[in-house]
Amino acid sequence: MTPLPDRIDLLILPRWIVPIVPAGTVLENHALAVHEGRIVGILTRNQAAGVQAKETRELPGHALIPGLINAHGHAAMSLFRGLADDLPLMTWLQEHIWPAEARWVNEDFVRLGTRLAIAEMLRGGTTCFADMYFFPDVAAEAAIEAGIRAQLAFPVIDNPIPGARDSAEAISKGLRLRDEIKHNPLLSVAFGPHSPYTVGDTTLANLRMLADELEMPVHMHVHETAGEISDALNLGGQRPLQRLRALGLLNPRLQAVHMTQINDEDLGLLVDHGVSVIHCPESNMKLASGICPVQRLLDAGVNVALGTDGAASNNDLDMFGEMRTASLLAKSSTGSSTALSAHQALHMATMGGAIALGIADETGSLEVGKAADLAAVDLSGLAHQPVYHPVSQLLYTCNANHVSHVWVAGREKLRDGRLVLPDQDGLLEAVTQWSQQIQHRDEDHA
Ligand SMILES: [Zn+2]
Repeated sequence: MTPLPDRIDLLILPRWIVPIVPAGTVLENHALAVHEGRIVGILTRNQAAGVQAKETRELPGHALIPGLINAHGHAAMSLFRGLADDLPLMTWLQEHIWPAEARWVNEDFVRLGTRLAIAEMLRGGTTCFADMYFFPDVAAEAAIEAGIRAQLAFPVIDNPIPGARDSAEAISKGLRLRDEIKHNPLLSVAFGPHSPYTVGDTTLANLRMLADELEMPVHMHVHETAGEISDALNLGGQRPLQRLRALGLLNPRLQAVHMTQINDEDLGLLVDHGVSVIHCPESNMKLASGICPVQRLLDAGVNVALGTDGAASNNDLDMFGEMRTASLLAKSSTGSSTALSAHQALHMATMGGAIALGIADETGSLEVGKAADLAAVDLSGLAHQPVYHPVSQLLYTCNANHVSHVWVAGREKLRDGRLVLPDQDGLLEAVTQWSQQIQHRDEDHA
């Protein structure tokens, strides 16, 4: 063990530590040492007894895990939560979400919706999120204000969008944002081509060239529904993944969101090119989009991350609920109760996300040298008793409300279940005002 500084910033004493790496490990009665935002030691209680710390946190009934990584969402859409439910994907998009976006989305909307989403995510143990939405520069400001880790994918579509007249402007603004935040250790920027069916070959080829040159990730909805595949086959004779391969977009920097349709050839492409898949089970179930074959992907060696998708199609950003859904769906859809074990699901929500976003050196597990992105979950309540295997509890009895403490890069964001963020009362008031406006307009048009 390398010696610790004389006086470290923070010593956390939880009942259990679930480090994720090494796989399947649970440490009981250990301590985690944090200094200058990083994990500097994982110690036995005997070793910890001699450590001087500015702050000590006793968490006697808690499990300490890496902060969760919500690898796909549209944060600002939290303001559309519950606006239109129980509809097919295309009806939902074309008749509800896209018109509502056209009417309401501006910088103020994105600022407030993103703040709401960040507060909900931090409350539930998420310390990093991958976002894809209009005005990513405004979302970046909200992430900086809250001190949360984020990857901001700027949307690219072959149509005018809020904040950009065409794809060229979207790309040039996105690259400017990348320059502006390049010294911020918590933020990164990715290309966000919406989907194969909304972005043409010319734009994709241009984007691929820039992404390769700048070594930037590409975050994209791919193979979300069976209809997307049949439309593409009718139009060009190729499955979308084949088309992306032909355009040179398949590589380890591609984050393919959804992938509910995977034939043997698709699986081979994902494996051969090291593409990460981002699984959004609740959104896929709610919109009846299909089922991503997670266990098959993991067995083939594909990295899989987990995302909630936007609150308009979920309708919450609770990664504990998402992990449980992912696990239960994997079991019920394969007829095998051994599919997606609790440890595998937790890995997907932490390291799987970090690998997908290209930040596995920095976060995703509790290892010395990584950033102190942490969530403590209180397992002392009635509904968790008795605790034989804390990871079973994390998967099968917990939800976001059981998270008690959260740190991002060593900074406390949730303390005893209360957010340590600026102006939470003002946030709720502003959300109410927006929702009243949106609702009145919706009723006028009903
Ligand atoms: Zn999405």
